[in-house]
Amino acid sequence: MNTPSDEHGHDHPKNELSHYAKRIYAIRDLLLEKGVISEKDIQCQIDYQEARSPANGAKLVARAWVDPAFKARFIADPKAACAEMGIDATAINEFVVLENKENLRHMVVCTLCSCYPRPILGRPPDWYKSFNYRQRSVVDPRGVMREFGLHLPEDVEVRVHDSTADIRYLVLPLRPKGTEDWSEADLAKLVTRDSMIGVMDALDSIPE
Ligand code: FE
Repeated sequence: MNTPSDEHGHDHPKNELSHYAKRIYAIRDLLLEKGVISEKDIQCQIDYQEARSPANGAKLVARAWVDPAFKARFIADPKAACAEMGIDATAINEFVVLENKENLRHMVVCTLCSCYPRPILGRPPDWYKSFNYRQRSVVDPRGVMREFGLHLPEDVEVRVHDSTADIRYLVLPLRPKGTEDWSEADLAKLVTRDSMIGVMDALDSIPE
């Protein structure tokens, strides 16, 4: 079966959109027509959403690794610590930072839908929203971690945290060994999105 992009290579005619997409465009057109919002408002909002990415989280984690006082503030009052770094986390109601330890790993899921710390990590990956992940992460978190390449010894405890509309979690991964004299900017390159969801540890070398 041909999809619109197969046929045209670039364009998606409105009448071939899904039911929900058509509904979104209809609502947008109505809001514009009634003067509730402007084209500029929409573009500003798109730019704002796109600017939020795991780079925000990586900055926070790297700062926490090099600055123990910041780390303490980041755990005690994450939203205030974000503001210090120029990151706006006010859209999150309750924001909790979970610190990994040698003998403890945290893993984040939203079993109900796709709640995610978007101001810190941007949009969630598709797998995070999948029924498979939402179901299996609570039943067999170690098995899910293994599929991401993290093989934990049996004596490492794993705690799974279920996000809600009110509470969003961010994992503070362990600082990789052998990085004691690294710069904050280089450390940030080791902090992956998946390490802040908790399915992986941080990288131990900068990817090519
Ligand atoms: Fe959710």
